[in-house]
Amino acid sequence: MNLILMGLPGAGKGTQAEKISNKYNIPHISTGDMFRLAIKEGTDLGIKAKEFMDQGDLVPDEVTIGIVEERLGKDDCQNGFLLDGFPRTIAQAEALQALLTNMDEDIDYVLHVDVPEEQLVKRLTGRRICPTCGSTYHVMYNAPKEEGICDKDGSELIQRKDDTSETVKTRLNVNIKQTKPLLDFYQEKGYLVSINGDKDIDVVFQDIQAKLEKLAL
Ligand SMILES: [Zn+2]
Repeated sequence: MNLILMGLPGAGKGTQAEKISNKYNIPHISTGDMFRLAIKEGTDLGIKAKEFMDQGDLVPDEVTIGIVEERLGKDDCQNGFLLDGFPRTIAQAEALQALLTNMDEDIDYVLHVDVPEEQLVKRLTGRRICPTCGSTYHVMYNAPKEEGICDKDGSELIQRKDDTSETVKTRLNVNIKQTKPLLDFYQEKGYLVSINGDKDIDVVFQDIQAKLEKLAL
């Protein structure tokens, strides 16, 4: 099964990716891992990508798509793959389509883990950190016994600047702007499968399985 996974930060994409990967025996291929592997293996494209990254530049699409091609050609992709974080743009989506056609393959589904923006803000602003021991808490999912206080050493918990509501909203909006055209693109082509991600982790995964199995009939 050839899948692409999409979802905003905080939507629980990483967790679902691991579950899908285990259940369907397909590798979870995140963009970061893919680049790290190419660099570690020292492929020509990996070396090229590293040059751009070392200079703080974006890796150009033709290098990225080449690295995707190398990755999808590996033995562990015989059952398919789960792409996460790629494609990011329409140009990349079109390049991927062309690449898969060349391989006599196609995307089966683009899974979109959909969570309302205000819920994402709640999830993403809930993290609290102990400045003394570094323990992390979450006001919704992993609350300390006493509000605002570290269980281990009694220190007052703090919120990182990255986790404040203003920063989170800005980050989400950038992501929404980037993602929207891609969702539209896959919707028009009939690949898009939306999953309500505003539920318990296991329920979301059950919904994903149910949809995939229904579609496969
Ligand atoms: Zn502490």
